[in-house]
Amino acid sequence: MIGQITFDNQYCHNTRYVFSKSIFASAIFLSLCAFLPSPTLSQELTPKTTPEVVKQVSAAVVVLTTEGRGRTPDSQASGVIINDGRTIITNLHAVAGASKVSVHLEDGRTVEAVGYMGMDEKRDLICIQIAERFKSGSYPDLAALEDLSIGQKVIAIGSPQGLANTVSEGIISGIREFDEGTSVIQTTAPLSPGSSGGGLFNDQGELIGITSFLHTGGQNLNFAYPTDYILPLLAKTEPQPFASLKAPTYEPSKAGITVYVTRTGSKYHRETCRYLRRSKIEITLLEAVDRGYTSCSVCKPPILE
Ligand SMILES: [Zn+2]
Repeated sequence: MIGQITFDNQYCHNTRYVFSKSIFASAIFLSLCAFLPSPTLSQELTPKTTPEVVKQVSAAVVVLTTEGRGRTPDSQASGVIINDGRTIITNLHAVAGASKVSVHLEDGRTVEAVGYMGMDEKRDLICIQIAERFKSGSYPDLAALEDLSIGQKVIAIGSPQGLANTVSEGIISGIREFDEGTSVIQTTAPLSPGSSGGGLFNDQGELIGITSFLHTGGQNLNFAYPTDYILPLLAKTEPQPFASLKAPTYEPSKAGITVYVTRTGSKYHRETCRYLRRSKIEITLLEAVDRGYTSCSVCKPPILE
């Protein structure tokens, strides 16, 4: 009897992290969970080293190249294979406007994506599908936002500037709420252009976010959208052709935009504002808002909604 309870408890615990299990089964076990004490992550799981995590998940991080995007042919981004081994999550901005998306697998194969499934313009995420199931590596489980802690170790894997599976390490330095109901993971793990759509993993090798944008002004501010926003994109539909996907009309999240403040003022400004004559300090919009600066009424810089 005791053994049975222990097993159930273990299973319930895991369902919080494994989204890919059927929702029905999760619901049953989660309802059982309500009657059982839940163990904490630290009691249950030994942290893996960065090389261990990389070995576990790097095959699931793929390079995407696109064609047909006008002036920027063959642009390149990253993506993460999830779910059934045929689904790749990446940033919408990485593939929007493309007529063809090619997926470069770790085993050397290049396969053409058959189309896209769900997408979320607000969170800059899209699920694309390949015809064949990816078999030569394991694909990661997803960890939920509610199970993340500020300060925990994270590992980013992406393909900046064509350098496949570039690894960086850091911590979660913040969990921010943007717009209404959009949370973003802020991390110290360095990202570079081309890392868009790469994976941010915890010390169990679970996917916790999709690396999406960074601040280019020299501060170590990098952002990922949590995996919670991926689930609704996995609904079963026929893949849609990329040609039906228009070039982006949305504004990517503004947190990493560069704005300017002065040594003594309380406002933040656009670069050209006349109030910046005496001093000009470059920070992100997020930092400006965090530090209590308010928007200049003369130059009308972007605001965080
Ligand atoms: Zn101004």
